[in-house]
Amino acid sequence: NELHNNLRAKMKNQLPEAVFQLLKEIGTTATNSNTSVFLIGGIVRDIILGRPNDDIDIVVEGDGIGFSHQLVKDYGGEVKTHEDFGTATWTHPTGLKIDITSSRLEYYDHPAALPDVEHSTLKEDLYRRDFTINAMAICLDQKKFGHLVDPFQGKTHLEEKTIKVLYNLSFIEDPTRILRAARFETRFQFSMDDHTKELALISIDKMKALSATRINHELEKLFTEDYPSQALKRLFELQFWQQFGIQGSHLTQCFTHGQRLEEFYKNKHSYKTLDQKPSWFMYFLIPFYYENDLKGAQRFALTKKDNKLLKEISDLKAQDPWKHSSDMGELHQLLKPYSAESIVFFITNELRDDERVLNYLQARENLPTYLTGEDLKNSGLKPGPLFSSVLLDLEIAVLNDQVQTKEQAFKWLHEKIK
Ligand code: ATP
Repeated sequence: NELHNNLRAKMKNQLPEAVFQLLKEIGTTATNSNTSVFLIGGIVRDIILGRPNDDIDIVVEGDGIGFSHQLVKDYGGEVKTHEDFGTATWTHPTGLKIDITSSRLEYYDHPAALPDVEHSTLKEDLYRRDFTINAMAICLDQKKFGHLVDPFQGKTHLEEKTIKVLYNLSFIEDPTRILRAARFETRFQFSMDDHTKELALISIDKMKALSATRINHELEKLFTEDYPSQALKRLFELQFWQQFGIQGSHLTQCFTHGQRLEEFYKNKHSYKTLDQKPSWFMYFLIPFYYENDLKGAQRFALTKKDNKLLKEISDLKAQDPWKHSSDMGELHQLLKPYSAESIVFFITNELRDDERVLNYLQARENLPTYLTGEDLKNSGLKPGPLFSSVLLDLEIAVLNDQVQTKEQAFKWLHEKIK
């Protein structure tokens, strides 16, 4: 078992050489300072899975801050400490960053609860984590370098592709862990075991009491993963959306919309004004859209960008703008104020007049500017609201092929002024 759980070779193969060397250096300092140090959290899971992860978190049994100063003495670099939390971030001269936490020795506080004195505080630290697969550590001490500490069968659960909480009250204590579970499910294509899923379902109503900031923080990560529409669906099964007044019967519509959105960005995406991926908030809005309750999403719109998206999508939904428009110019008149992102949200839902609106978006991005404000001024127009209205009319004329050159634009302007 000792041999089976030695990850040294795996670490050497998998981690960038600089990181591997750095971890060994940390182990040397630990041994010299008579303390134990462990790699901990997501990176341990990812070493076992063979996936890259740049977040190097270590825990020091004892005084993490003192240890971080020792690292600077031994190897240089800089350290930033957070005394209140007993944590530090060490930046190695190569630029690599290591987050250091302390697991304090508290034998005298509860001696009975700690049978294995050697790594008892480490076990406590691991026990406070979200899932067994994230509750493993790798020892970095010279003599035990690479040794896996796995008190909750995390490695077995990784092999079984199972997400399992460490204790029954886990989701009650921190309901955001349900969102984290959904994230690891979609990322690794794992699933919660029946017991964990049951605990999630009986704790999900606690989600309502959380601040939008905490929920957003986890949802943003969830919807930035590779299968956002699958996650959207999973959150229906876990009764997440239902906590915010959304009916379970919208699952299929929402899933389909999410998939179309994903596909749109993957396949048809050549638009300069769109990001590479939909923003996470687009996925978030989908259920509220089908529930006809976009107002319900308002308290989650925490940034200017999210607010704009929500407002635009609400307006577009209320006006259904391109239902009656017959040409490019009319589309422009209606859609000019809206971002491409909001328009795409609609296209991926309705699939109505799809090509026409897509052509419009493309044309809008490549709209030539035949006349400037300066040109208008020189033609005797007074700057003011009239300017933008004339320029909009010109854009409409260009989109409808009535104006195709600079000369024609001037001619058009003079007619207009007359
Ligand atoms: P990622 O690869 O997305 O960074 P991660 O597992 O590293 O995933 P983080 O959110 O960076 O996740 O958190 C780091 C570690 O901290 C996790 O592995 C987990 O052990 C612990 N952790 C994070 N959030 C919680 C939480 N809400 N409850 C308990 N433990 C948590």
